[in-house]
Amino acid sequence: MSKKINVLVWNEYADDQKNPAVANVYPKGMHITIADFLNNNPDIQAKTAVLADEEQGLSDAVLDNTDVLIWWGHIAHDKVEDKTVKRIIDRVQRGMGSIFLHSAHKSKPFMALMGTSGHLCWREAAEKERIWITSPAHPIAEGIPEQFVLEHEEMYGEPFGIPQPLQTVFIGWFQGGNVFRSGVTFQREYGRIFYFQPGHETFPIYHNEIIQKIIVNAVKWAKPIVKVNSLDCPNVPPLENL
Ligand code: ZN
Repeated sequence: MSKKINVLVWNEYADDQKNPAVANVYPKGMHITIADFLNNNPDIQAKTAVLADEEQGLSDAVLDNTDVLIWWGHIAHDKVEDKTVKRIIDRVQRGMGSIFLHSAHKSKPFMALMGTSGHLCWREAAEKERIWITSPAHPIAEGIPEQFVLEHEEMYGEPFGIPQPLQTVFIGWFQGGNVFRSGVTFQREYGRIFYFQPGHETFPIYHNEIIQKIIVNAVKWAKPIVKVNSLDCPNVPPLENL
């Protein structure tokens, strides 16, 4: 049997997530819910880390053992230290996969990887979102219905401040009329990146089986094809006589 994919589910888990509005939906935190459904898949081994952990849960040793990093952050983006971000970017460039969920569009590592602002418009009105697949042959869309509904979600709307994606896998339509590129892929050197919009903390989005299947698919897609130890610029001898 091949080696399992080592996933680290990182959540800022700030005080707002311990309020009843969130804790009633995710009693142990969103990171635990996400890791639990990932661990139901025989190909995945998921662990968790939070901002309050030593080295913000993202030490060199932890990152070296991570194949795919999943990120949820919102009110504490600026508490993530620049040296932590640098370690993440280095691992992505050398092959680690990464999945940025919902409000991670404004996280330091996502903006650094994109080179753009990650801006969007938003509205918190518990409105309906209908998500459509735009790339049916993409591995992240495998086994997902051509469209499905989230009864209540925060609206995220275009224009979205990202570079042109490698592929747009999903778009979302919101009851209030806005649309959004809800699932988009990127590659930075050896590392694959997926941004996925659903996941406002007061709605049971990560308990939804379709959402869970998309995140499982995304982990499998983002796992490293090749991981390299260094991105130095070696001075190399010629292959032919000069
Ligand atoms: Zn939100």
